[in-house]
Amino acid sequence: MKIKTYTMPTDLEEAYQLLQEKDAGIIAGGAWLKLLPKTLTQGIDLSGLKLDTINETEENYTIGSMVTLRQIETHTSLGTYMDGVLQEAISHIMGVPIRNIATIGGTVAGRFGFSDLLTPLLALKANLVFYKKGQVTLESYLKEALKEKDILLQIIIKKEYGKAHYTTVKKTANDFPILNVSITKIGTHFRVAVGARPSAAVLATKTMAYLNENKTLSDDIIEKAAKIAVEEISFGSNARGSKAYRTQLCKVLVERGIKEVAYENTN
Ligand SMILES: Cc1cc2nc3c(=O)[nH]c(=O)nc-3n(C[C@H](O)[C@H](O)[C@H](O)COP(=O)(O)OP(=O)(O)OC[C@H]3O[C@@H](n4cnc5c(N)ncnc54)[C@H](O)[C@@H]3O)c2cc1C
Repeated sequence: MKIKTYTMPTDLEEAYQLLQEKDAGIIAGGAWLKLLPKTLTQGIDLSGLKLDTINETEENYTIGSMVTLRQIETHTSLGTYMDGVLQEAISHIMGVPIRNIATIGGTVAGRFGFSDLLTPLLALKANLVFYKKGQVTLESYLKEALKEKDILLQIIIKKEYGKAHYTTVKKTANDFPILNVSITKIGTHFRVAVGARPSAAVLATKTMAYLNENKTLSDDIIEKAAKIAVEEISFGSNARGSKAYRTQLCKVLVERGIKEVAYENTN
């Protein structure tokens, strides 16, 4: 990647105005950007904007967009929240040196199909706060990116307590996932997210509705839910796995994941 002008604003409005210039782009951790054959006329480094903290209240976690994956992984409260689902997902992303650099903002804004982190964030009902656009759900942002160039400021996770599960299948530990699945259960309410299809993570909404209307779960109901998941979600092929393999994998992983959160006592 080439950067013609490099700026580190200390004011959000300045950063936003620079971003509107032709071929201007935000640099977060830069871990992914630096691999791209891209030229930025204006590279805007967000490091001076104090977006690198995790704030916790009784209701929410508010994660600044410049918070690194490693900060989340090692955060005593957020890292262990909901069975440590974020910690588990992050632990599968390369090694600690990359996780010390890569940010949650770059991960969300990249909307990477291969992401390990977007899937549990979707299952945890994360919300995003942009400088101009304000608050949007991660679910809607993954379906459709913003039309205007904007700066992601925060990721908000409303604190709810229950069970959570994450599983990813990779050919080698440092590879991108072939498929990943995250499931949460709050009270009797399930959320099922599937990522690396290889397109970006989606919620299995029909599967969730089916699970949520069945007050008592059994192996048969869970098996049917996993079948619904593979019928409603679209899969594709790439170098890591075929559509047929991903479809089979999804059925097995969703079934196992639901059993894990359904059959254990809630916190
Ligand atoms: C070698 C390598 C292997 C990886 N393997 C995996 C993996 O297996 N699983 C996985 O989940 N992830 C993987 N990742 C991705 C990593 O987890 C991060 O998602 C990625 O590096 C992006 O974070 P970053 O901070 O580096 O963003 P950058 O590279 O700085 O930016 C990424 C994009 O987001 C934009 N952007 C960044 N911040 C903002 C913001 N606040 N507002 C608006 N736009 C913004 C940038 O302009 C750019 O377009 C890998 C990355 C690398 C480099």
